[in-house]
Amino acid sequence: MTRINEITCRSILNRSGIPGVDYGINPYVGCMHKCQYCYAVFMKKFTGHTEPWGDFVDVKINAPSVLERQLKKLKKKSDILFGTVCDAYQPLEKRYRITRQCLEKLIGHPHAVSILTKSPLVLEDLDLLRKLRDVEVGFTIVTLDEKVRRVFEPGTLPPERRFHTINVMSCNNIPTWIFVAPVLPYFSDQTAMLRKLMIKARNAGTRYILFDTLNPYPRVWRNVTRLVKKHFPRALPSFREYEKDADRYGAALMKKISAIGLEERVSCKFAFGCGG
Ligand code: SF4
Repeated sequence: MTRINEITCRSILNRSGIPGVDYGINPYVGCMHKCQYCYAVFMKKFTGHTEPWGDFVDVKINAPSVLERQLKKLKKKSDILFGTVCDAYQPLEKRYRITRQCLEKLIGHPHAVSILTKSPLVLEDLDLLRKLRDVEVGFTIVTLDEKVRRVFEPGTLPPERRFHTINVMSCNNIPTWIFVAPVLPYFSDQTAMLRKLMIKARNAGTRYILFDTLNPYPRVWRNVTRLVKKHFPRALPSFREYEKDADRYGAALMKKISAIGLEERVSCKFAFGCGG
């Protein structure tokens, strides 16, 4: 059961170190999607939470008014990303609508707004997204296999729902992209899976797919390999291969994805290695 706390924040528009992103907006601390590979688990250290990741969420109830104040001071057109360390459309958003209220504050501003989510709940804010001057929505899709999703992303809805959401976004002229991150060795890097993903992405009207490999952050690595051992032991050698030589794995993966992308006429980008 998730413990929910209402908190106030002093800042909601926070400088980001992510390339191409000036500021991150995280309306929540913690995430009910409970992804087992989530690197944002480091947030526990800064917020004093001892519960397992996914078992707590702090709701920044004053985020919209803080954002309004901060936007007044922001003179330069900036790139703003919703969800750098949480999913802004995790199930609690349905109840609190903090993300929605923040989007309302952004209407009329020149900033480029990006949202990264796994949730179809973003569709409920389509009316606002259409009013923003510069907006795009990214959907993280790591697997098309339900058994794999249930183990690694237990709090999310099936990927099919994400493709449907992308399709609706495309029909409403909202640009979308897909983020395959992390590429899970054995699960997300198989030719058949990659081809299927690309065909679905193309049919749903997404603009491009960005790939990134698994973060070797020790805590994440230990947790992911523990689950692999328990649920999919046959996949363990692939993880060991990746661990042994991540550069070689990355180079081979990039080559494979680029070739399938060319065949399927899908634009593929890489956030790892030399792909840029
Ligand atoms: S949706 Fe994103 S922030 Fe939330 S648990 Fe999953 S990876 Fe972490």
